[in-house]
Amino acid sequence: MSVETISTSYPPLIDPASYYILLLTDGTKIQIDAGANPNPPKTANTVLATHWHWDHLYGLVGAPPSKVYISKNSFQLVNGQLALSRMQNVIKAVIGEHAWEPVKEAAEAFASRYDEIRDALQSKHEVIFLEESEDPLPLGFKVLTCPGHSDDHLCYLKDTHIFVGDNVVYPGAVSLTHLLKYRETIAKILAEPNWKTLYPGHGKPIGRQETLKWFLRTYKSKEKRMCRLSLLLGKGVKLIEALNHIYGKLDGILYYVAARSLLGYIRALEDVGLVEVDKSVSPWKIKLKD
Ligand SMILES: [Zn+2]
Repeated sequence: MSVETISTSYPPLIDPASYYILLLTDGTKIQIDAGANPNPPKTANTVLATHWHWDHLYGLVGAPPSKVYISKNSFQLVNGQLALSRMQNVIKAVIGEHAWEPVKEAAEAFASRYDEIRDALQSKHEVIFLEESEDPLPLGFKVLTCPGHSDDHLCYLKDTHIFVGDNVVYPGAVSLTHLLKYRETIAKILAEPNWKTLYPGHGKPIGRQETLKWFLRTYKSKEKRMCRLSLLLGKGVKLIEALNHIYGKLDGILYYVAARSLLGYIRALEDVGLVEVDKSVSPWKIKLKD
């Protein structure tokens, strides 16, 4: 099997998104994800989707009709209104109610991309829902459910190749929706014994050694943030204060991504019963549980 990496960019993306075209030994072409460019340079007529984020699916808008394997979860998330209310919830919870109005218009324009993707999926492509299966899927792919970067994330394994989407992002700058689930995902990927090359959602393929290095760097940066967060928790803190304390000065989209990631830490702490979150105020307040 040969794999071609295609790098795509589209504003406001900072790191170009990679998608992959696989040529199987029997001549079948399979594509993993569709990239950020709505007019993709190359396509295959079977696509496997890793997760719902637009920079991995926007290529479906301009691609010719194909068979798209996607989880039901991902498919349900690809929806402009839903994407918008998720953005709004993150901003209200972490930064505060007042911060929504100034970014609303830009957020609406951005969220409409999800409607374009959904329209393309519904009107042009053939959609097949895919969930984790012990049996190899048609085409000899194994699917792993890998939440952490997003709740719906899937990874694909084929022979000595693993396609992990945004679960591995150089240099350990993965944004998270759930820290503990992300850790389980890393363990799951590393426990698969057969892969030799790992294909990330941004950047170029890497080997096992390099992957381990990336994971260690990621662990370290997440642990550091968790420590900084825990130092604030004793007396209780507003999420905006925690955000500024942990991430320092960030602008625009990065500020939003950091806010989303902060909720990923808090969800994990809440799930293990360590913190109490007051969600009746905006921004939310968090403190250690007595
Ligand atoms: Zn993503």
